[in-house]
Amino acid sequence: MLKKLFQSLRSPLRRARPVRSTPEILSEHQHSLRRGQFSRYAVSVVERLQNAGYQAYLVGGCVRDLLIDVDPKDFDVATSATPEQVRAEFRNARVIGRRFRLVHVHFGREIIEVATFRANHPQGDDEEDSNQSSHNESGRILRDNVYGSLEEDAQRRDFTINALYFDVTGERILDYARGMHDVRNQQIRLIGDPEQRYQEDPVRMLRAVRFAAKLDFEIEPHSAAPISRLAPMLREIPAARLFDEVLKLFLAGYAEFVYDLLLEFDLFEPLFPASAAALKRDPEPTDRLIRLALASTDQRIAQGKSVTPAFLFAALLWPALPARVAQLREHGLPPIPAMHEAAHQLISEQCQRIAIPKRFTMPIREIWDMQERLPRRQGKRADLLLDNPRFRAGYDFLILREDAGEELGGLGDWWTDYQDCTDSERRRMIRDLGTLTSQEEGNGGAPRKRRRSGNKRRHAAPTGE
Ligand code: ATP
Ligand code: MG
Repeated sequence: MLKKLFQSLRSPLRRARPVRSTPEILSEHQHSLRRGQFSRYAVSVVERLQNAGYQAYLVGGCVRDLLIDVDPKDFDVATSATPEQVRAEFRNARVIGRRFRLVHVHFGREIIEVATFRANHPQGDDEEDSNQSSHNESGRILRDNVYGSLEEDAQRRDFTINALYFDVTGERILDYARGMHDVRNQQIRLIGDPEQRYQEDPVRMLRAVRFAAKLDFEIEPHSAAPISRLAPMLREIPAARLFDEVLKLFLAGYAEFVYDLLLEFDLFEPLFPASAAALKRDPEPTDRLIRLALASTDQRIAQGKSVTPAFLFAALLWPALPARVAQLREHGLPPIPAMHEAAHQLISEQCQRIAIPKRFTMPIREIWDMQERLPRRQGKRADLLLDNPRFRAGYDFLILREDAGEELGGLGDWWTDYQDCTDSERRRMIRDLGTLTSQEEGNGGAPRKRRRSGNKRRHAAPTGE
């Protein structure tokens, strides 16, 4: 009780600047959106809820994206119905989430996300029982399940461009926060007081960066200003939630741009502390490797190819390995065990920030292990490696390292040739290796061969799942 009083004296309650109490309503003649542009399932969910007597609108990313001719990733519905009431209307619906309860309505592979109108519940309004508390001591929202009116719902959304409501019946847009103005001016602007809104949910800083990169919008100066200072608050976010956010940041086709923004706003360090330390220690090669990995991820996504988080995390953490290996060597560990221990330490430390599931940490280790094995090609080893299910990812990673400037004595070219040639040529390539000293081999010393035609090199890419 005393603690609470003391806190409220120290940090006076700062409510978000209110949004308009009546929305600006744009009729069908004042904007370009038509109901036919939305998923028919999303429209049918809205109509069903309306027929049952509830208010319901399409909201968020789908409205924003369609206004600027971007294909929406998903369709979100906001409604006055509670999750239980929504579930009762649909056979194919499930209530999910704890911090933020909502309903998933399934239509085959498509999921429509239905959220009940929320109200802001400012700090200090919490129940006495700390288990019920909706905020923690730094103002972070722990639970966000206080239902409210449409107007309150607009107020608790993150950015003005995400608080536009589309009414499918009249094809009108309800704008409470001058979101249309910001869409036109390409601005990412928080609703309310930026500092307070980031404190409530530091992930909003990552969302600001993500939307800036995705839409090529500017983060409006007042919304940008507090980010660097508040960036360390990301350390308080549960690691599982950060994993989801980081995938959204890096696997949507604009990862290199996101990386620049994360660096600009000091958000990279709290997400990837060991990589950030490597960037400080060894700026150029570290930046080059990370940038190349992200650029090739973006390229693969643009080409509709698959990508795996394992490759991405393997690349992000790779530059942090040498320093860790050196440290362990100083403590007397031989090279190979030092490498394994360093890999283990780095991955488990990273998982405390970003909970990378086991199905990805295993392949990260395997990609790294491959880097030790690819130089050792004598006898039957090369063919065994080729048959290894992780060969492809390991080879791609090797090419990435070389492209980033690591000097490996032509090992990448050797493997490129080896994959392409006939059995007898392969035997000869292995025989030629016999003339190398073990040291040359260890460095990846392949016979100096000229490439046969142009650049046959397969491009480094996050494949290999
Ligand atoms: P996309 O789906 O393209 O990633 P989106 O804006 O739809 O973008 P979602 O994560 O699907 O993002 O969230 C839907 C809407 O919910 C957002 O547009 C925003 O209005 C609201 N929202 C999501 N996360 C937050 C948050 N952390 N704080 C406040 N509002 C949020
Ligand atoms: Mg969405």
